[in-house]
Amino acid sequence: MLQKSIYSILYFILIFFISRSIYFENTKTDMTSPFSKILAHLFIAILFIIAGCSSSDNFSGFSYDPEGVTETTDKGINPQYKRTIGVESGGVWVSNEFAGARMSDFYKVSDSLYRIEISPENKKINNSPWYAFKVWGSDKDSVTLQLHYNHGEHRYIPKLSKDGKTWRRIDPSNFSADTTNGTATLSLDLTLDPLWVSAQELYLWDDYRRWTDSLAAKRFIKTDTVGYSHNRRPIIKMGISETNNDSKKGVLIIMGRQHPSEVTGALAAQIFINELASQSKLANQFRKNFDVWTYPLVNPDGVQQGHWRHNSAGVDLNRDWQAFNQPETRAIRNDLLSLNNDSLRTVYYGIDFHSTDENLFYPINRDISTFPEDFTYQWIDSLTKTFPNYPVKVEPFDTSSPIAKNWIYHTFGADAVTYEINDRANRDSIRIVTRKNAQIIMQQLLNEKEEQKMPAK
Ligand SMILES: [Zn+2]
Repeated sequence: MLQKSIYSILYFILIFFISRSIYFENTKTDMTSPFSKILAHLFIAILFIIAGCSSSDNFSGFSYDPEGVTETTDKGINPQYKRTIGVESGGVWVSNEFAGARMSDFYKVSDSLYRIEISPENKKINNSPWYAFKVWGSDKDSVTLQLHYNHGEHRYIPKLSKDGKTWRRIDPSNFSADTTNGTATLSLDLTLDPLWVSAQELYLWDDYRRWTDSLAAKRFIKTDTVGYSHNRRPIIKMGISETNNDSKKGVLIIMGRQHPSEVTGALAAQIFINELASQSKLANQFRKNFDVWTYPLVNPDGVQQGHWRHNSAGVDLNRDWQAFNQPETRAIRNDLLSLNNDSLRTVYYGIDFHSTDENLFYPINRDISTFPEDFTYQWIDSLTKTFPNYPVKVEPFDTSSPIAKNWIYHTFGADAVTYEINDRANRDSIRIVTRKNAQIIMQQLLNEKEEQKMPAK
């Protein structure tokens, strides 16, 4: 810190004298007052410093991030009390007593309106207000529920389920969002059988385990525990490898679910990995040349606890890829670092799956040299040629932010992307587009390897 301050002062003095000479060589203004001269020097020096800071200062968060997001030491979370709350007079009950639930309070506002309070795990937090609860009633009358968010505004269209497994989007005629107050109102026909109401379909620890266990039945897939979360849940790695022991191979890194509420990204990651593990001709050829290192559930505590965004320490894990204060990010980093001493394996690409309110690629700026070069841009070209009507936005970034994609680039020199799937994407379209994406990536990686672009280690 002191060193930084000394550098800043020296820099200021230098800029002061440079700007002084530039200003007075380029102006004919007659500045007779010494005071106004000094003011002009100061003004120009400050301009230079602001310009210098924009490219060299520490990253402090994206536009949608809350203040202090890159401070990733433990922050603590507010407990969510697990309970069933009933309003006897109206005969309506709600419960958050299941994994992935989020419901902070419940009460009757008037004879016709009940309110559900939803609070985040901690604040400050960006607007990803996850909710999930069960509701049931003693008579068959329709009830009106208002979702009221603390520190957030309504974002996710409710999904309903009678068994917690199969889900449907609420009928639009039974739902409205109030953009002024940030609340949402649902009309539900209740019976004594609980109805699950959730921001997105529940996709939890058990679902991941069922999926990874079923894939691990294949001889080329191995699951492993690379570390533990704050609450001692395993951080699972699933490795796909059919390459020869002594031949050179590429590595593809895949991560998912750093942010618990981002279910469409989680669904896409699963479909993508399934395609890499399929019996298609392309997948078979791909697996002879590439190993895949996947970490599909980076934040298991957040998912199980129904968090909006953070882990059990109240930290945004995808801002911890420089400080590594959190056990989840450390576990994955330590596992991946073994690739640095592996003369047979070269990292080619990394994909970090997320969700937001549109389909969005965050590639690395094109003017930054990566290996392979322009890999994400080739992917986007192929995708938009295959599905010209599929809306895709592209927002390139520099590599200064402490996110997973940038760590992959800084550690391995490889290209990498943060890939966001629209929260509201039709689930069938996610399946179709993601399978195609996996095929595009496999073909591109094979082409790259074919072109003997592997750099000397
Ligand atoms: Zn995210």
